[in-house]
Amino acid sequence: MPFEEAREKTLARVSPVRERERVALGAAPGRVLAAPVVAPHDVPNHDNSAMDGYAVRFADLKAEGEVRLSLAGVVAAGDEAGAVLKPGEALRILTGAPVPAGCDCIVIQEVVRLEGGSVVVPGGQERHQHIRRAGQDIAVGTEVFGAGRILGPAEIGMLASLGIGQVEVVRRLRVAVLSTGNEVCEPGRAIAPGQLYDSNRASLKAALAALRVEVIDLGIARDRREEIEAALRRGAAEADVVLSSGGVSVGDFDLVKDVIDELGAIDFWKVRMKPGKPQAHGRLGDAAFFGLPGNPVSVLVTYLLLVRPALLRMMGTDPGPLRYLRLPYRGETIRKSHDRAEFMRGWVRYGAEGAHVESTGAQGSGILSSMAAADVLIHLPEAPVTIRDGDMVEAIEIVY
Ligand code: AMP
Ligand code: MG
Repeated sequence: MPFEEAREKTLARVSPVRERERVALGAAPGRVLAAPVVAPHDVPNHDNSAMDGYAVRFADLKAEGEVRLSLAGVVAAGDEAGAVLKPGEALRILTGAPVPAGCDCIVIQEVVRLEGGSVVVPGGQERHQHIRRAGQDIAVGTEVFGAGRILGPAEIGMLASLGIGQVEVVRRLRVAVLSTGNEVCEPGRAIAPGQLYDSNRASLKAALAALRVEVIDLGIARDRREEIEAALRRGAAEADVVLSSGGVSVGDFDLVKDVIDELGAIDFWKVRMKPGKPQAHGRLGDAAFFGLPGNPVSVLVTYLLLVRPALLRMMGTDPGPLRYLRLPYRGETIRKSHDRAEFMRGWVRYGAEGAHVESTGAQGSGILSSMAAADVLIHLPEAPVTIRDGDMVEAIEIVY
């Protein structure tokens, strides 16, 4: 299956979880809004001063030349609104203080002179200057965020500024993660020659942490039917999504495939992409199943390009398109002779002539160091292609 088709299929076959819950704002970062938020009042909720200075009536001032106003008091941030500014007077005003009735201009303190009980204000002021209007950030009644919005720091800040202490969010997605392989071992223990540490489960769990989903750790299953079956059964029962790695390449596939055939169904496997050709997409009971390849880079690349968008959709938000940058490539000539889409690990460099992209090094699907260095995946289309220094390429931003 071509990569683009696999992307469409993986998105089309998942649907958003329906359950929602109310959470305190402090627990809401990274969560997805389940219902729109409408502003219960204006932000700011009153006209206030943007500067330390003097509240005046514009009509009292002159376009050129000074005027002398009598200083009638002071208003500070936190004071109750209700101060009144009479003609011929000025009030000392501090940043954030409510603008007194009658005032339509704030003059900054740096330009005035204080003489006895008077304030001498120079000409050249502008009406309405340095006044922050009620509702200029958010007007009462407007829809601030729609359902599906992911709550990041600025969103959370806006909700707090509206006085909202609780929000209705989609319940957290439950994602189970399994590693497979006789050679795969838990980090923290000594390993024998021929064994390796389980990096896939660690990197998948790290990626899932960025999405704030609930992770169900299914551990490592040996290449034995009973172990794989027990783990996948547990995943299917407890999770919305089951991710496994390894055991889906041609020689190995039978074990995982047998179990899935029994517990669910495979929709497709083998995607024309590199890294990441062997994959198994399907269902395990009611859970969506993604059988990812074993190689550590293939795991992260297929996660980023195929799994993550599907998870976002299930979380109730729009995954949006992949973020492509069009940049000149710098480096040795790349000759791609196979007919799969290829995703090369690259980094963007910023120079005097603008940005360009380079390879981060060896591209083997087991080489995590070039993945760790990468901030983009250079997308080479299916057809065989030669890319030379200076050619334009399409690079997908890596966003976990
Ligand atoms: P497989 O598809 O199971 O044959 O795995 C392909 C390659 O990925 C093999 O070299 C495995 O040793 C390696 N591999 C599989 N699972 C993991 C894992 N959890 N962590 C690191 N490497 C793995
Ligand atoms: Mg294996």
